[in-house]
Amino acid sequence: MNERKAVILGTGPAGLTAAIYAARANLNPLVIEGNEPGGQLTLTTEIENFPGFPEGIMGPDLMDNMRKQAERFGAEFFFGAVTSVNLAERPFRVTVNESEEFFAQSLIISTGASAKMLGISGETEALGHGVSTCATCDGFFFREKKIVVVGGGDSAMEEALFLTRFASEVTIVHRRNALRASKVMQDRARDNSKIKWALNNTPVAVKSEDNHVIGLEVRNNENGKTSVLEAEGVFIAIGHQPNTAFLGGQVQTDKVGYIITIPHNTATSVEGVFACGDVMDSRYRQAITAAGTGCRAAMDLEKYLEGAFVHDWSMTGL
Ligand code: NAP
Repeated sequence: MNERKAVILGTGPAGLTAAIYAARANLNPLVIEGNEPGGQLTLTTEIENFPGFPEGIMGPDLMDNMRKQAERFGAEFFFGAVTSVNLAERPFRVTVNESEEFFAQSLIISTGASAKMLGISGETEALGHGVSTCATCDGFFFREKKIVVVGGGDSAMEEALFLTRFASEVTIVHRRNALRASKVMQDRARDNSKIKWALNNTPVAVKSEDNHVIGLEVRNNENGKTSVLEAEGVFIAIGHQPNTAFLGGQVQTDKVGYIITIPHNTATSVEGVFACGDVMDSRYRQAITAAGTGCRAAMDLEKYLEGAFVHDWSMTGL
Protein backbone atom coordinates (compact mmCIF):
# COMPACT_ATOMS: atom_id res chain seq x y z
CA MET A 1 0.00 0.00 0.00
CA ASN A 2 1.35 3.41 -1.05
CA GLU A 3 0.88 5.10 2.33
CA ARG A 4 2.24 8.54 3.20
CA LYS A 5 2.24 10.56 6.37
CA ALA A 6 1.23 13.67 4.46
CA VAL A 7 -0.36 14.17 1.07
CA ILE A 8 -0.86 17.66 -0.31
CA LEU A 9 -3.37 18.31 -3.08
CA GLY A 10 -2.46 21.22 -5.34
CA THR A 11 0.65 23.17 -6.32
CA GLY A 12 -0.31 26.83 -6.07
CA PRO A 13 1.43 29.03 -3.50
CA ALA A 14 -0.60 27.44 -0.68
CA GLY A 15 0.21 23.83 -1.58
CA LEU A 16 3.87 24.52 -2.33
CA THR A 17 4.40 26.48 0.88
CA ALA A 18 2.74 23.64 2.79
CA ALA A 19 5.08 21.26 0.95
CA ILE A 20 8.17 23.28 1.95
CA TYR A 21 7.15 23.29 5.61
CA ALA A 22 6.06 19.63 5.69
CA ALA A 23 9.26 18.57 3.91
CA ARG A 24 11.41 20.56 6.34
CA ALA A 25 9.56 18.79 9.17
CA ASN A 26 10.88 15.51 7.68
CA LEU A 27 7.42 14.33 6.63
CA ASN A 28 8.45 13.53 3.04
CA PRO A 29 5.10 14.83 1.68
CA LEU A 30 3.64 13.67 -1.58
CA VAL A 31 2.27 16.57 -3.61
CA ILE A 32 -0.37 15.92 -6.25
CA GLU A 33 0.18 18.57 -8.88
CA GLY A 34 -3.30 19.03 -10.29
CA ASN A 35 -4.36 19.83 -13.82
CA GLU A 36 -2.69 23.22 -13.76
CA PRO A 37 0.65 22.82 -11.96
CA GLY A 38 1.54 26.09 -10.28
CA GLY A 39 -2.09 27.19 -10.18
CA GLN A 40 -3.51 30.56 -11.13
CA LEU A 41 -0.15 32.37 -10.97
CA THR A 42 1.03 30.50 -14.01
CA LEU A 43 -1.71 32.33 -15.92
CA THR A 44 -0.37 35.79 -15.07
CA THR A 45 2.79 37.44 -16.25
CA GLU A 46 4.72 39.60 -13.81
CA ILE A 47 4.03 39.58 -10.08
CA GLU A 48 5.03 42.81 -8.40
CA ASN A 49 3.43 42.42 -4.99
CA PHE A 50 5.01 39.22 -3.68
CA PRO A 51 7.44 40.42 -0.99
CA GLY A 52 11.10 39.76 -1.60
CA PHE A 53 11.22 40.55 -5.31
CA PRO A 54 11.86 44.30 -5.63
CA GLU A 55 12.00 44.06 -9.42
CA GLY A 56 8.99 41.72 -9.61
CA ILE A 57 9.02 38.10 -10.74
CA MET A 58 7.18 36.21 -13.46
CA GLY A 59 4.35 34.06 -12.07
CA PRO A 60 5.64 30.78 -13.53
CA ASP A 61 9.17 31.51 -12.22
CA LEU A 62 7.88 32.14 -8.70
CA MET A 63 6.00 28.85 -8.72
CA ASP A 64 8.99 27.02 -10.17
CA ASN A 65 11.21 28.41 -7.41
CA MET A 66 8.75 27.32 -4.72
CA ARG A 67 8.60 23.85 -6.19
CA LYS A 68 12.40 23.51 -6.31
CA GLN A 69 12.57 24.69 -2.71
CA ALA A 70 10.09 21.98 -1.65
CA GLU A 71 11.96 19.32 -3.65
CA ARG A 72 15.23 20.31 -2.02
CA PHE A 73 13.83 19.23 1.35
CA GLY A 74 12.35 15.95 0.12
CA ALA A 75 8.85 16.71 -1.19
CA GLU A 76 7.83 14.35 -4.00
CA PHE A 77 5.53 15.33 -6.84
CA PHE A 78 3.01 13.31 -8.78
CA PHE A 79 1.51 14.74 -11.94
CA GLY A 80 -2.24 14.36 -12.20
CA ALA A 81 -5.51 15.61 -10.81
CA VAL A 82 -7.28 14.16 -7.80
CA THR A 83 -10.52 12.68 -9.03
CA SER A 84 -11.89 11.47 -5.70
CA VAL A 85 -11.04 10.91 -2.05
CA ASN A 86 -12.39 8.60 0.61
CA LEU A 87 -12.18 10.36 3.95
CA ALA A 88 -14.25 7.76 5.80
CA GLU A 89 -11.30 5.32 5.66
CA ARG A 90 -8.09 5.65 7.72
CA PRO A 91 -5.63 6.17 6.14
CA PHE A 92 -7.48 8.41 3.71
CA ARG A 93 -7.66 7.14 0.14
CA VAL A 94 -6.74 9.59 -2.64
CA THR A 95 -7.47 8.64 -6.23
CA VAL A 96 -5.58 10.44 -8.97
CA ASN A 97 -6.55 10.37 -12.64
CA GLU A 98 -9.29 7.89 -11.71
CA SER A 99 -6.80 5.03 -11.41
CA GLU A 100 -3.73 5.75 -9.28
CA GLU A 101 -4.31 5.33 -5.52
CA PHE A 102 -2.44 6.84 -2.61
CA PHE A 103 -3.12 6.53 1.12
CA ALA A 104 -2.57 9.38 3.53
CA GLN A 105 -2.44 9.63 7.31
CA SER A 106 -3.15 13.34 6.91
CA LEU A 107 -4.18 15.54 4.05
CA ILE A 108 -3.83 19.16 3.01
CA ILE A 109 -6.35 20.44 0.47
CA SER A 110 -4.97 23.35 -1.52
CA THR A 111 -6.74 22.87 -4.82
CA GLY A 112 -7.50 26.57 -5.23
CA ALA A 113 -10.32 28.28 -7.00
CA SER A 114 -10.74 29.05 -10.64
CA ALA A 115 -11.90 32.40 -11.92
CA LYS A 116 -15.00 31.91 -14.02
CA MET A 117 -14.40 32.85 -17.64
CA LEU A 118 -16.85 34.10 -20.24
CA GLY A 119 -16.05 31.46 -22.82
CA ILE A 120 -16.09 33.97 -25.69
CA SER A 121 -13.87 34.16 -28.73
CA GLY A 122 -10.40 35.68 -28.23
CA GLU A 123 -10.57 35.41 -24.43
CA THR A 124 -8.24 32.47 -23.68
CA GLU A 125 -5.57 33.61 -26.15
CA ALA A 126 -5.46 37.07 -24.56
CA LEU A 127 -5.17 35.85 -20.96
CA GLY A 128 -2.05 37.57 -19.59
CA HIS A 129 -1.92 39.82 -22.67
CA GLY A 130 -4.69 42.25 -21.80
CA VAL A 131 -7.30 39.89 -20.38
CA SER A 132 -7.03 39.45 -16.61
CA THR A 133 -9.07 38.07 -13.74
CA CYS A 134 -7.22 39.97 -11.00
CA ALA A 135 -7.08 43.76 -10.70
CA THR A 136 -4.76 43.66 -7.69
CA CYS A 137 -2.30 41.58 -9.70
CA ASP A 138 -2.46 43.33 -13.04
CA GLY A 139 -4.04 46.78 -12.63
CA PHE A 140 -0.69 48.49 -12.40
CA PHE A 141 0.10 47.55 -16.02
CA PHE A 142 -2.79 49.66 -17.30
CA ARG A 143 -1.77 53.16 -16.22
CA GLU A 144 -3.59 55.83 -18.24
CA LYS A 145 -5.27 53.14 -20.36
CA LYS A 146 -8.91 52.40 -21.01
CA ILE A 147 -10.19 49.30 -19.23
CA VAL A 148 -13.36 47.26 -19.39
CA VAL A 149 -14.57 45.27 -16.38
CA VAL A 150 -17.13 42.53 -16.99
CA GLY A 151 -19.63 41.62 -14.26
CA GLY A 152 -22.37 43.11 -12.14
CA GLY A 153 -21.54 41.74 -8.67
CA ASP A 154 -19.47 43.08 -5.76
CA SER A 155 -16.27 41.72 -7.31
CA ALA A 156 -16.83 43.70 -10.49
CA MET A 157 -17.50 46.91 -8.53
CA GLU A 158 -14.45 46.34 -6.35
CA GLU A 159 -12.21 45.58 -9.31
CA ALA A 160 -13.51 48.59 -11.23
CA LEU A 161 -12.99 50.94 -8.27
CA PHE A 162 -9.47 49.64 -7.72
CA LEU A 163 -8.65 50.03 -11.41
CA THR A 164 -9.68 53.71 -11.43
CA ARG A 165 -6.40 54.34 -9.56
CA PHE A 166 -4.54 53.52 -12.73
CA ALA A 167 -6.83 53.67 -15.73
CA SER A 168 -7.89 56.75 -17.66
CA GLU A 169 -11.41 55.28 -17.85
CA VAL A 170 -13.10 52.09 -16.63
CA THR A 171 -16.28 50.80 -18.28
CA ILE A 172 -18.36 48.23 -16.42
CA VAL A 173 -20.08 45.83 -18.79
CA HIS A 174 -23.00 43.90 -17.34
CA ARG A 175 -25.45 41.63 -19.13
CA ARG A 176 -28.54 43.02 -17.35
CA ASN A 177 -29.84 46.47 -16.47
CA ALA A 178 -29.91 45.69 -12.75
CA LEU A 179 -26.65 45.12 -10.90
CA ARG A 180 -26.23 42.19 -8.52
CA ALA A 181 -23.77 44.11 -6.31
CA SER A 182 -24.69 45.40 -2.84
CA LYS A 183 -26.07 48.92 -2.73
CA VAL A 184 -23.04 50.36 -0.99
CA MET A 185 -20.70 48.99 -3.68
CA GLN A 186 -23.01 50.15 -6.47
CA ASP A 187 -23.13 53.63 -4.97
CA ARG A 188 -19.37 53.81 -4.67
CA ALA A 189 -18.97 52.83 -8.30
CA ARG A 190 -21.67 55.25 -9.47
CA ASP A 191 -20.03 58.07 -7.54
CA ASN A 192 -16.71 57.55 -9.27
CA SER A 193 -16.39 59.84 -12.29
CA LYS A 194 -13.86 57.57 -13.99
CA ILE A 195 -16.41 54.75 -14.19
CA LYS A 196 -18.66 54.50 -17.25
CA TRP A 197 -21.44 51.96 -17.73
CA ALA A 198 -22.43 49.57 -20.49
CA LEU A 199 -25.41 47.86 -18.89
CA ASN A 200 -27.62 45.35 -20.68
CA ASN A 201 -24.68 44.37 -22.87
CA THR A 202 -23.48 40.80 -23.37
CA PRO A 203 -19.78 40.28 -24.16
CA VAL A 204 -19.31 38.61 -27.53
CA ALA A 205 -15.56 38.61 -28.29
CA VAL A 206 -12.23 39.96 -27.07
CA LYS A 207 -10.54 41.84 -29.89
CA SER A 208 -6.74 41.78 -30.13
CA GLU A 209 -4.11 43.06 -32.55
CA ASP A 210 -0.43 42.05 -32.48
CA ASN A 211 -1.00 40.10 -29.25
CA HIS A 212 -2.49 43.16 -27.50
CA VAL A 213 -6.11 43.65 -26.54
CA ILE A 214 -7.78 46.53 -28.35
CA GLY A 215 -11.37 46.13 -27.19
CA LEU A 216 -14.37 44.07 -26.16
CA GLU A 217 -17.16 43.39 -28.62
CA VAL A 218 -20.57 43.49 -26.95
CA ARG A 219 -24.15 42.94 -28.02
CA ASN A 220 -26.76 45.40 -26.81
CA ASN A 221 -29.60 43.27 -25.47
CA GLU A 222 -32.24 45.90 -26.25
CA ASN A 223 -31.59 46.36 -29.95
CA GLY A 224 -29.34 43.34 -30.71
CA LYS A 225 -26.64 45.57 -32.22
CA THR A 226 -22.98 44.77 -31.66
CA SER A 227 -20.25 47.33 -31.05
CA VAL A 228 -16.65 47.33 -29.84
CA LEU A 229 -15.76 49.07 -26.58
CA GLU A 230 -12.23 50.31 -27.01
CA ALA A 231 -9.95 49.08 -24.21
CA GLU A 232 -6.44 47.79 -23.67
CA GLY A 233 -7.44 45.77 -20.64
CA VAL A 234 -10.43 43.46 -20.15
CA PHE A 235 -10.93 42.38 -16.53
CA ILE A 236 -13.33 39.52 -16.03
CA ALA A 237 -15.00 39.61 -12.61
CA ILE A 238 -17.91 37.20 -12.84
CA GLY A 239 -17.01 35.14 -9.77
CA HIS A 240 -14.76 32.28 -8.73
CA GLN A 241 -15.46 28.60 -8.25
CA PRO A 242 -13.49 26.74 -5.55
CA ASN A 243 -12.14 23.42 -6.79
CA THR A 244 -13.90 21.14 -4.32
CA ALA A 245 -16.18 18.99 -6.48
CA PHE A 246 -13.84 15.98 -6.10
CA LEU A 247 -14.55 15.95 -2.35
CA GLY A 248 -18.07 14.72 -2.97
CA GLY A 249 -19.41 16.59 0.06
CA GLN A 250 -17.19 14.75 2.57
CA VAL A 251 -15.75 18.01 3.90
CA GLN A 252 -18.05 20.80 5.06
CA THR A 253 -18.18 23.75 2.68
CA ASP A 254 -20.24 26.93 2.41
CA LYS A 255 -23.02 27.12 -0.16
CA VAL A 256 -20.65 28.15 -2.95
CA GLY A 257 -18.24 25.29 -2.21
CA TYR A 258 -15.47 27.03 -0.20
CA ILE A 259 -14.09 24.74 2.54
CA ILE A 260 -14.95 25.86 6.06
CA THR A 261 -12.06 25.80 8.52
CA ILE A 262 -11.99 26.19 12.29
CA PRO A 263 -11.32 29.87 13.19
CA HIS A 264 -7.63 30.52 13.94
CA ASN A 265 -6.40 27.26 12.39
CA THR A 266 -6.74 25.32 9.13
CA ALA A 267 -8.62 22.21 10.27
CA THR A 268 -11.65 21.13 8.27
CA SER A 269 -14.70 19.20 9.47
CA VAL A 270 -12.73 15.94 9.04
CA GLU A 271 -9.98 15.36 11.62
CA GLY A 272 -6.59 15.08 9.93
CA VAL A 273 -7.71 17.02 6.85
CA PHE A 274 -6.52 20.62 6.57
CA ALA A 275 -7.24 23.28 3.96
CA CYS A 276 -5.35 26.34 2.81
CA GLY A 277 -5.28 28.92 0.02
CA ASP A 278 -8.09 30.02 -2.24
CA VAL A 279 -10.06 26.80 -1.72
CA MET A 280 -10.93 28.09 1.79
CA ASP A 281 -10.53 31.84 1.25
CA SER A 282 -12.99 33.74 -0.92
CA ARG A 283 -11.89 37.07 0.50
CA TYR A 284 -8.17 37.81 0.09
CA ARG A 285 -7.17 35.46 -2.76
CA GLN A 286 -3.56 36.67 -2.92
CA ALA A 287 -0.43 34.57 -3.49
CA ILE A 288 1.04 35.84 -0.24
CA THR A 289 -2.07 35.11 1.83
CA ALA A 290 -2.35 31.65 0.23
CA ALA A 291 1.30 30.97 1.06
CA GLY A 292 0.63 32.09 4.64
CA THR A 293 -2.25 29.67 5.10
CA GLY A 294 -0.13 26.93 3.47
CA CYS A 295 2.47 27.40 6.19
CA ARG A 296 -0.24 27.26 8.86
CA ALA A 297 -1.77 24.07 7.38
CA ALA A 298 1.59 22.27 7.41
CA MET A 299 2.21 23.30 11.02
CA ASP A 300 -1.28 22.12 12.02
CA LEU A 301 -0.75 18.82 10.19
CA GLU A 302 2.58 18.28 11.94
CA LYS A 303 0.88 18.77 15.32
CA TYR A 304 -1.92 16.40 14.25
CA LEU A 305 0.57 13.65 13.36
CA GLU A 306 2.21 14.12 16.76
CA GLY A 307 -1.21 13.64 18.38
CA ALA A 308 -1.08 17.19 19.74
CA PHE A 309 -3.70 18.95 17.60
CA VAL A 310 -6.99 19.88 19.24
CA HIS A 311 -9.83 19.60 16.74
CA ASP A 312 -12.52 21.84 18.19
CA TRP A 313 -15.16 22.00 15.45
CA SER A 314 -17.63 23.65 17.85
CA MET A 315 -15.60 26.87 17.38
CA THR A 316 -17.15 27.20 13.92
CA GLY A 317 -20.58 27.46 15.54
CA LEU A 318 -21.85 24.90 12.99
P1 NAP B 1 -21.49 37.20 -8.03
O1 NAP B 1 -22.10 37.96 -6.92
O2 NAP B 1 -21.95 35.81 -8.30
O3 NAP B 1 -21.66 38.08 -9.35
C1 NAP B 1 -21.24 37.60 -10.58
C2 NAP B 1 -21.67 38.62 -11.65
O4 NAP B 1 -21.15 38.19 -12.90
C3 NAP B 1 -23.17 38.74 -11.78
O5 NAP B 1 -23.52 40.09 -11.98
C4 NAP B 1 -23.47 37.91 -13.03
O6 NAP B 1 -24.54 38.41 -13.80
C5 NAP B 1 -22.22 38.07 -13.83
N1 NAP B 1 -21.99 36.91 -14.68
C6 NAP B 1 -21.90 35.60 -14.28
N2 NAP B 1 -21.67 34.81 -15.35
C7 NAP B 1 -21.63 35.64 -16.43
C8 NAP B 1 -21.43 35.42 -17.80
N3 NAP B 1 -21.20 34.20 -18.29
N4 NAP B 1 -21.46 36.49 -18.63
C9 NAP B 1 -21.66 37.74 -18.15
N5 NAP B 1 -21.85 38.01 -16.85
C10 NAP B 1 -21.83 36.96 -15.99
O7 NAP B 1 -19.90 37.05 -7.83
P2 NAP B 1 -18.86 38.06 -7.15
O8 NAP B 1 -19.13 39.44 -7.57
O9 NAP B 1 -17.51 37.48 -7.39
O10 NAP B 1 -19.19 37.95 -5.60
C11 NAP B 1 -19.14 36.68 -4.94
C12 NAP B 1 -19.44 36.86 -3.46
O11 NAP B 1 -18.36 37.57 -2.83
C13 NAP B 1 -20.69 37.69 -3.22
O12 NAP B 1 -21.33 37.20 -2.09
C14 NAP B 1 -20.15 39.08 -2.94
O13 NAP B 1 -21.01 39.86 -2.13
C15 NAP B 1 -18.84 38.75 -2.23
N6 NAP B 1 -17.88 39.85 -2.44
C16 NAP B 1 -17.93 40.92 -1.58
C17 NAP B 1 -17.08 41.98 -1.77
C18 NAP B 1 -17.13 43.15 -0.83
O14 NAP B 1 -18.07 43.23 -0.08
N7 NAP B 1 -16.19 44.04 -0.85
C19 NAP B 1 -16.18 41.99 -2.83
C20 NAP B 1 -16.16 40.91 -3.70
C21 NAP B 1 -17.04 39.85 -3.50
P3 NAP B 1 -26.06 38.29 -13.27
O15 NAP B 1 -26.18 39.32 -12.18
O16 NAP B 1 -26.86 38.59 -14.48
O17 NAP B 1 -26.22 36.88 -12.79
